[in-house]
Amino acid sequence: MAEFCKMKTRESSIIIGGGLSGLTLAYLLAQKHIEAIVLEASPRLGGRIQTVKGALGAPLELGATWFADKHRHLSSLSEELELQKFPQFSKGISLFQTKSFEPPQKFFVPEAETPSYRLAGGTQSLIDTLAQKLKAQNIRSNARVTGIRNSEDTVIVETATGEVFKAGKVIVCVPPQLAASQIEFSPELPKPVREILPTVQTWMAGAVKFTLEYSEPFWRNEGFSGMLYSHAGIVTEMYDHTNLEEDKFGFTGFLNSGAAAYAQEVRKEFVLRQLGELLGAKALQPTAYFDKVWTDEFVLAGSPVIHRPHQNNGHALLQMAYMDGKLYFCGTETATEFAGYMEGAVMAAKSIAERL
Ligand SMILES: Cc1cc2nc3c(=O)[nH]c(=O)nc-3n(C[C@H](O)[C@H](O)[C@H](O)COP(=O)(O)OP(=O)(O)OC[C@H]3O[C@@H](n4cnc5c(N)ncnc54)[C@H](O)[C@@H]3O)c2cc1C
Repeated sequence: MAEFCKMKTRESSIIIGGGLSGLTLAYLLAQKHIEAIVLEASPRLGGRIQTVKGALGAPLELGATWFADKHRHLSSLSEELELQKFPQFSKGISLFQTKSFEPPQKFFVPEAETPSYRLAGGTQSLIDTLAQKLKAQNIRSNARVTGIRNSEDTVIVETATGEVFKAGKVIVCVPPQLAASQIEFSPELPKPVREILPTVQTWMAGAVKFTLEYSEPFWRNEGFSGMLYSHAGIVTEMYDHTNLEEDKFGFTGFLNSGAAAYAQEVRKEFVLRQLGELLGAKALQPTAYFDKVWTDEFVLAGSPVIHRPHQNNGHALLQMAYMDGKLYFCGTETATEFAGYMEGAVMAAKSIAERL
């Protein structure tokens, strides 16, 4: 048994999930001198935050991208980590496509509108900076937790590879729906909790996000904002994705739910065809295309997509401790405000850090 933090097992914690909530919690606990190990199922940290690089180096978002002034906890965390935010570009002609056989409607976003912000370098910079603040040996990737066992004054956590960890507290920072299907709790959780977990909607599970990189901002040069809403094509929403320095260019946005059924090459073809028709031939020459269907084993793992937004998010049963006060639920879906969003993930982590 890998007895994590051998000298002080009872005072140490195990954090399950290396997304924004898990890493923020580890960072906050480190500030309180509480040892915590993060067990992350995937080879990659960040969960629903994933920034990839285009062929020309543009940071391109496949997951979480925007936040606003009202997201105070996220904003103050990014400031504390010395990350720079910048407003989403929206100047120029935006397009609204209602029907495929009619020209798109044109509209302008009023300048006075409260901006959405992006993070310089991509949202991933939040994850990378948090991870850098933690001891490397306290972050374990490829460590999918399969079991949590209550054992006298400690909790025993088992992974799919047979590793066993022991600590005084365990905090589940994975979407509740996933916790219910992936982790065996022993003894089993009280019936009301067992019933609630699979009904908690995982925000953005099932979404299909795409991103494109271009060598020049040809749309800006022609007076377009890059913003598109469509009821007609595979792209349903799209935004300019130029970086803070304005030397790397692209778009990011969402595809319709039917897109998940196509192969990626087919999705790319449909996206380019739609953008070519709306923005001209230059749209057909991207330097990179990526997309992601958010249903994999780290977000949904075969559970059904719950269509009612935020169903049972922040539920009272997710605020309570179990296994004699040694087991807590964290993660954005447990937050009592802004659940599902990055703000919720940070708020949930802060709330647990205060309680531990
Ligand atoms: C396409 C998309 C767009 C989004 N856009 C925005 C946006 O613009 N603004 C915004 O605020 N939010 C947005 N979000 C939501 C935002 O990404 C989430 O609120 C936030 O990242 C959730 O963090 P979390 O730590 O709670 O959960 P997650 O990021 O889901 O992290 C959970 C982690 O647990 C790991 N894990 C799962 N099972 C196990 C297991 N058994 N053992 C160990 N580890 C496990 C997962 O691999 C994952 O890394 C978006 C999400 C998606 C998918």
